[in-house]
Amino acid sequence: MNVGVIGAGWAGLSAAIALHDAGHDVSLYEAGPLAGGRARRVPGSGNAALDNGQHIMLGAYQHTLQLMQRLHREPDRLLLRFGLKLQAASGDFELRCRALPSPWHAVAAVALAKGWHTSEKAALIKAMARLRLRGWKVTPDRPLAQWLDEQRQPAGVVKRFWEPLCLAALNTPLAQASTLMMARVLKDSLDAGRNASDVLIPRTDLSDLWPDHLPAGITLHRHSPIQRIDAASNGYTLNEKHWHDALVVAVPPPNARRLLAELPARPGTERLMQHLEAFSPVAIATLNLMLDEPWTTLSEPMLMLDDQAAPGQLGQWLFNHAVISNARERHPLISIVLSNCLSSALTDRDAAGRLIIEQVRRQTSQFGPMPDIAQQLLIIEKRATFAATPGLTRPDNNTPWPGLVLAGDWTNTGYPAVLEGAVMSGQAAARCIG
Ligand SMILES: Cc1cc2nc3c(=O)[nH]c(=O)nc-3n(C[C@H](O)[C@H](O)[C@H](O)COP(=O)(O)OP(=O)(O)OC[C@H]3O[C@@H](n4cnc5c(N)ncnc54)[C@H](O)[C@@H]3O)c2cc1C
Repeated sequence: MNVGVIGAGWAGLSAAIALHDAGHDVSLYEAGPLAGGRARRVPGSGNAALDNGQHIMLGAYQHTLQLMQRLHREPDRLLLRFGLKLQAASGDFELRCRALPSPWHAVAAVALAKGWHTSEKAALIKAMARLRLRGWKVTPDRPLAQWLDEQRQPAGVVKRFWEPLCLAALNTPLAQASTLMMARVLKDSLDAGRNASDVLIPRTDLSDLWPDHLPAGITLHRHSPIQRIDAASNGYTLNEKHWHDALVVAVPPPNARRLLAELPARPGTERLMQHLEAFSPVAIATLNLMLDEPWTTLSEPMLMLDDQAAPGQLGQWLFNHAVISNARERHPLISIVLSNCLSSALTDRDAAGRLIIEQVRRQTSQFGPMPDIAQQLLIIEKRATFAATPGLTRPDNNTPWPGLVLAGDWTNTGYPAVLEGAVMSGQAAARCIG
């Protein structure tokens, strides 16, 4: 079949590769200048390329890792892998998975954590054990903050464990986050083999990681926004000129809604349109600090920052690319992540940058001074993810239109908006086409 894929984010790309491998002719249409979507290199950022936002992956991202291998993009070379470690920059808290079989590696991490009282450790282990006993299911789904209250989670455990992990994985505050989606992330990372909880950080830019390395035979049309889909006999026409037997629509929900609204209504169309409207975007900002030299006295790749220590000090995670990049390159770059950020808090970018830099200097003082900053760049992705809330109905890949399927991190994967969900969704969409 001749299949068109609209959108070259990780979902559209993985759909295109799976369809190509199944023997179809595949054309990819991407509105932007390069492949990668919300996980991409920022064009023009030079040799030491920057991404649109710092991303981390987990050992649990099996579909993504297999896809990289399929493209001969060796995960061992291109990703820094280390055992899950939550380490506060200030030095007053540390939790580290131990070299034991799962789930004991995680139990030991909590039992031996630095910075918690025994009662706090016991409360967290009990809550996790209960969740595991119930098959990592919570019925009915409810806001994570409510579930944590029910589980009597102490404030120190909420602050050092639940809140940072919830923001990192769901990009949604505790008061709104879906307990079920959080439980799914915990199950697949902490209860699925010891390596599943490993942290994997790209050592190259996100487009080079694999999206730039499509198999020959897939045609990628860059700068090609699709504005219109028409149902034609036994297929679909895009922008009134490209005809395809089948289509994968792998664009964000509002864009999908606009495109599908033009098609003749069929049973189920109205419900799908309502579901597509129900997603709310949440922003993530990344402050990149290009330093005069690598920060060698900071030997950690990733540290937790305290975003409640002082007003405006909004950084949550710090990434040191001198450690992440390979030893030869020692990239003098620090990236600070602000999840679930309100763009209104960042309207004065210079002031926001100053406060965050002050936060980093203050909270990392135990590692010696950060080298001087040569350049800084704050990137705000206003539509980074959807709010992962309870009761959100996520569409399946199949649609009311024959041969037209959906893909994207927002489809019904069970995961929040993450790379692995996007890849899984793209591959599921390809299977629907056959
Ligand atoms: C700053 C930031 C940090 C993140 N951190 C993490 C993380 O640490 N770990 C993690 O797992 N996930 C993270 N995510 C989420 C992850 O990036 C997304 O889940 C994933 O990239 C979504 O891929 P997708 O293919 O579903 O959608 P998208 O990447 O949005 O792809 C859709 C594509 O469709 C294109 N498009 C839209 N309309 C049209 C049209 N009409 N015609 C043609 N093309 C069109 C767009 O240009 C885009 O390329 C982060 C996201 C951001 C923004």
